[in-house]
Amino acid sequence: MSNSAGPFQEDLVSDTESGSSEEASGSDEDVAAWISWFVSLRGNEFFCEVDEDFIQDDFNLSGLSSQVPYYDYALDLILDADSPNNEILTEEQHELVESAAEMLYGLIHVRYILTSRGMGAMFEKFKNCEFGRCPRVLCNGQPCLPIGTSDVPRQATVKIFCPKCCDIFYPRSKYQGNVDGVFFGTTFPHLLLMTYPSLRPPRPTETYVPRVFGFKLHESALARPPPDPTPAVRQNGERSGVAGAAEAAAAGGGRGGVGGGGAMAVCAGRGHERRGSGPGKRKDEGEASQPRNSQRLLK
Ligand SMILES: [Zn+2]
Repeated sequence: MSNSAGPFQEDLVSDTESGSSEEASGSDEDVAAWISWFVSLRGNEFFCEVDEDFIQDDFNLSGLSSQVPYYDYALDLILDADSPNNEILTEEQHELVESAAEMLYGLIHVRYILTSRGMGAMFEKFKNCEFGRCPRVLCNGQPCLPIGTSDVPRQATVKIFCPKCCDIFYPRSKYQGNVDGVFFGTTFPHLLLMTYPSLRPPRPTETYVPRVFGFKLHESALARPPPDPTPAVRQNGERSGVAGAAEAAAAGGGRGGVGGGGAMAVCAGRGHERRGSGPGKRKDEGEASQPRNSQRLLK
């Protein structure tokens, strides 16, 4: 895939300066009905509509016929062209063609979104926040971009990339979470941000500081205990002793200790910003906004 991306990137470089947002937004008539239907399915919200012109250019599809079964049928389906041999297919074969068409469309899509027109279409979706927002609290709802972690099909599902903290996350929707990441590729969000540098948000200035009873924690308290410590290590390992105490405090907080312990436990929960609220209330809040680690502690 990375080899074949070359020509598409050249296309991008040559066309970028002319500005392509008009082209990208005004192309409804060029899109086949199957494509409109496909991108409207639940879970397929990250896909943009690929121009029919792009699909009809054999050059853009080079190498795909060997990757997709029923290639010709799938291509005809995407372009709403009537195949002369369509009627001799069994129902089972029709289903195979349908899933081949989805795979083929995805593999065309990942190439298309690296061209200026495709990037323009994705830019519009990004502006409308259609790819979701970063779940990290200190990113303040930064809109994200879809990304694949592999350029090989069926290796990993699509993720979202936050341009602010430069990290990747699972999409919120489980339907989106089933989409193959190869349909977006490892390059797209970074190339988009290079093409539209004004979209690049400033890096976050704040970092989260864990506190226990209002005090910042020493590094040793945040360190993991050694894996599978032997009793001998435990005895003279001052480090694991401190970490163990901190963890015990956090675990106690999760169970919502009684009396004074309750108030103290509230402070002890890692990843929690507010202090002084009741233990019961805290659990609800925690589930709404805390990362998985602290949820584990809460149980
Ligand atoms: Zn972020």
